[in-house]
Amino acid sequence: MRQDAVTNALTIDFEDWYQGLEIPHTQWAGFEDRIVPVGRRLLAVFAEAGVRATFFVLGYVAEQHPELVREIAAAGHEVGTHGYSHTLIYQQSPELFREELLRSIRVLEEITGAAVVGHRAPFFSITKKSLWALDILHEAGIRYDSSIFPVRNYRYGIEDAPRWPYDVETGRGPLREWPITTWQVGGRSLPVAGGAYFRIYPYALTRAAFRSINAGGRAALFYLHPWEIDPHHPKIPLPRRIALTHYFNLGATEGRLRRLLKDFRFAPMREVLSVS
Ligand SMILES: [Zn+2]
Repeated sequence: MRQDAVTNALTIDFEDWYQGLEIPHTQWAGFEDRIVPVGRRLLAVFAEAGVRATFFVLGYVAEQHPELVREIAAAGHEVGTHGYSHTLIYQQSPELFREELLRSIRVLEEITGAAVVGHRAPFFSITKKSLWALDILHEAGIRYDSSIFPVRNYRYGIEDAPRWPYDVETGRGPLREWPITTWQVGGRSLPVAGGAYFRIYPYALTRAAFRSINAGGRAALFYLHPWEIDPHHPKIPLPRRIALTHYFNLGATEGRLRRLLKDFRFAPMREVLSVS
């Protein structure tokens, strides 16, 4: 039962299972490619639920599988960019970031014929060390970004960043930022917006968070990766802190996602933000 009228943003960081593990993209060729069947499965889940999403597609994936990106766009989903090589932005030079961003936008626009206006950073890696990326995004035609996580994490986060959509002044005009949703509980900001948090917390907690946020008249954003509904993807040795969350509770995720899509109203981020 959909509780109320607030429309939340549904977003997918569209990459294969081995691409978000801090393995350099020059070493990706040896891993089992599963994005086509898993991506199609996700598209089927959305089609059944009658919802559309924003897919932040990795440029590398788009180059390898243009037909899959065409299917995403043909199903009415928004195509945004997730960069090209899934490298932490604060470990890149501004020049390399710009080059990869433009490459990803070019390939996506060639495939879909539509302008790319949304961006999500790999690993939410726009932090105080990489705020310069926002200027480059605006310069590249990006109108909204969804990369800043207002929490503290070993890999990402600007703890004191605003929690709701706001305009960032770049040198050339405003860029809309939609921070990754957190829930204020007992004076703390709890990350409840998706990914590993969605798999680790009981579903009831995610539902309570979305209900509470929507009851306050706010839209939440939800994010997931295709491999999170693929419990059978290969298990490889990983650093402990990554392995602990990467493989956790994958078998339950698709069912939970289906429940979430029934319990709440969702649309692509561009539509919720009314970015034209
Ligand atoms: Zn990613």
